[in-house]
Amino acid sequence: MSEQNILEVKDLTKHFKAGKKQIVHAVDGISFTLERGKTLGLVGESGCGKSSCARTIIRMYDPTAGQIILDGTDITNMKQKELMPYRKKMQMIFQDPYASLNARMTVRDIIAEPLLAHKMVKNKEESNELVYPMLERVGLTKEHANRYAHEFSGGQRQRVGIARALILEPQLVICDEPISALDVSIQAQVINLLKDFQEEKGLSYLFIAHDLSMVRYVSDDVGVMYLGQLVEMSEADEIYKNPLHPYTKGLLGSVPIANPKLARQKEKSSIEGDIPSPINPPSGCRFHTRCPYAKPECSQVTPKLVDVGKGHRVACHLCGQ
Ligand code: SF4
Repeated sequence: MSEQNILEVKDLTKHFKAGKKQIVHAVDGISFTLERGKTLGLVGESGCGKSSCARTIIRMYDPTAGQIILDGTDITNMKQKELMPYRKKMQMIFQDPYASLNARMTVRDIIAEPLLAHKMVKNKEESNELVYPMLERVGLTKEHANRYAHEFSGGQRQRVGIARALILEPQLVICDEPISALDVSIQAQVINLLKDFQEEKGLSYLFIAHDLSMVRYVSDDVGVMYLGQLVEMSEADEIYKNPLHPYTKGLLGSVPIANPKLARQKEKSSIEGDIPSPINPPSGCRFHTRCPYAKPECSQVTPKLVDVGKGHRVACHLCGQ
């Protein structure tokens, strides 16, 4: 593993059992690297497997196959006890700050809990020395410490979620749609807070979102997921200027359509139809059931994710395969 990388994910696979015989193919053979101090945006519709991918990387779920290398150490098959020191290095910020904060704990106790769990402080009093400055750092005050999550607005609750994640001084933070549940007016404030922390602490972010515009401002690199697989990945600027995969183009609302009536409909919903079930994903290219350019081989041959130049990788039979 290159020392430059905080995270390397190789062929990561996560399947869940559904009933006696069915398997949900949530994540199917994903590989990428994340450099220290950088942000990788992971994008795709609901149900594409991006959150399962994040939760597998952070080892909330046990991977079915593949490898997760964090800061040079393979943590793929570590048992929970062994994982403890590595958990400190990677933390998660969740989409719904209300559901992820314990309603019966004060904000002070919520933020102090990981410090005590990792034995970074001896007791509550000692934890206050870290909790109060952190509250101020995320834009809250010492006076907020004894309140409960339900007494806060959505934006304030997400600030508490950020404080809880960052109090351990992690190196990698997985942000699972951290602004999707917030008012637009609050989203920029939360993003700016995350960016400030990144600059200050050299943090690396894996930033998960359901639309490309949301990750544009924060990401150095962007990966696009469809039905458990990566279909395109490149530097962020390149993917916005030169999207190659029809699904990425659809997400950007830029699939060219000759018929003006259809084009108008397309503006409302840039990709037709619903994402198929991950229980029985389509054969070949998983996007073939919705792709306006699908040809017969697309349903039979799975396109590989190949580098088409300057590290721009794409999995599509139209792109040099
Ligand atoms: Fe469309 Fe075929 Fe490319 Fe898949 S491989 S995105 S179906 S053209």
